[in-house]
Amino acid sequence: MSRTLPVQKNDYIDVIFEDLTHEGAGVAKVDGYPLFVPDGLPGERAKVKVIKVNKGYGFGRLIETYERSPYRVEAPCPIYKECGGCQLQHLSYEGQLLAKEKQVRDVLERIGKLEGVKVHPVLGMKDPWRYRNKAQVPIGEQEGGLIGGFYQQRTHQIIDMKECLIQQEKNDEVVQKVKEICGRYGVRAYDEGRHKGELRHVMARYGLVTGEVMIVLVTRTNELPHKQRIVEEIASSIEGVKSIVHNVNSRKTNVIMGDVTRVLWGEEVIYDFIGDIKFAISARSFYQVNPEQTKVLYDKALEYANLSGEEQVIDAYCGIGTISLFLAQKAKEVFGVEIVPEAIEDAKRNADLNGMTNASFAVGKAEEVIPDWYKKGNTADVLVVDPPRKGCDEALLKTILSMKPKKVVYVSCNPGTLARDLRILEDGGYRTIEVQPVDMFPQTMHCEAVAGLEWKEGS
Ligand code: SAH
Repeated sequence: MSRTLPVQKNDYIDVIFEDLTHEGAGVAKVDGYPLFVPDGLPGERAKVKVIKVNKGYGFGRLIETYERSPYRVEAPCPIYKECGGCQLQHLSYEGQLLAKEKQVRDVLERIGKLEGVKVHPVLGMKDPWRYRNKAQVPIGEQEGGLIGGFYQQRTHQIIDMKECLIQQEKNDEVVQKVKEICGRYGVRAYDEGRHKGELRHVMARYGLVTGEVMIVLVTRTNELPHKQRIVEEIASSIEGVKSIVHNVNSRKTNVIMGDVTRVLWGEEVIYDFIGDIKFAISARSFYQVNPEQTKVLYDKALEYANLSGEEQVIDAYCGIGTISLFLAQKAKEVFGVEIVPEAIEDAKRNADLNGMTNASFAVGKAEEVIPDWYKKGNTADVLVVDPPRKGCDEALLKTILSMKPKKVVYVSCNPGTLARDLRILEDGGYRTIEVQPVDMFPQTMHCEAVAGLEWKEGS
């Protein structure tokens, strides 16, 4: 017999929420047993119905709130609950920033066993709406017309959407116009079930500083009926369009883009600036979605690197070289490493574009290329990492501990793996000086942070 749980399915119980999950649900503890309840906010007292119990945790539904959080607000978006793209619109922005600070602090203590590390309040946005520079919208059909928006949660049913409150308004305009124009020319939407039809996704990207717009039409086959007329109408009716690109994805997959990309109209890239640095962005490149906050994040990374102009710097996981070029303004030399060859092509082009001759780039896995450099006697004074959610590979961390750069700057999109990796670096002789969370994704639970580390003399 398994140990009896403190709650049973269908129980009604009174709880106080203590925390938020990474999906934005409230967490209440019943004799230490965690219950996850959508819509509950920390500090709130409520009646909950238990709807599912697992061994280590359960799920509940909010029945009645007795005491509301002072940070609770009405979600401004009418489709907030159905969409699922945002998780925190029912929490005021001040409350969101406090929740993210707590999340970072908690994981550093719980996973990283880093007590007493200085965690600064989250750097948030003045206006935490309309910040995303990229929209990727699945297309469907309704009564003969084209619709596009988002998949209803846990289904593949497309719900039409006229605007998204975290998108740049320009992207909303683009998606609406493209739906209307393609619909008028009789373009059929892709039908996932039967693998028929044409238009799968519309992608819009907006250069915040330049006002330049790229539109990508993703179709199932090479064909796009009335291609020429459609493209001309899009280009002439939307201000700022610089590039219209056709991407073909003929596979049965959730991955949005396929392998074939061709320019239908205008340029192959659009341009944007972060600070003084200009970036060329192509249809397939990774580019941060919140450019305003990207500047804040990179400025912090630069501050922690504390460059004098004499340093050799390595930027691991460099993407299209955004952080590398930021650092190259103040360093002697920067070496970027990245696994995606196209991103390295972009990084080189971006260095040229800005007349920077002290940044060079290599394709490969950070955990293979950097140990190899080290074996050949190449080291760094400052090493920056910005890994994907799973964090740094252990082989890379080991090399860092042998190479002993004076400073390590860790940019992270996942506080959990940040905490795990900081522990390893601390055990190997580094000291975490401070951690600065930056809110790159307001209204969502995603949390970005940058940590500054120094090699402890005598380690
Ligand atoms: N620093 C960049 C990109 C960060 S995203 C920016 O701020 O824009 C993380 C990057 O790491 C992605 O470009 C991804 O392609 C790359 N990547 C993932 N695994 C890698 C590995 N093992 N070695 C090197 N790069 C990797």
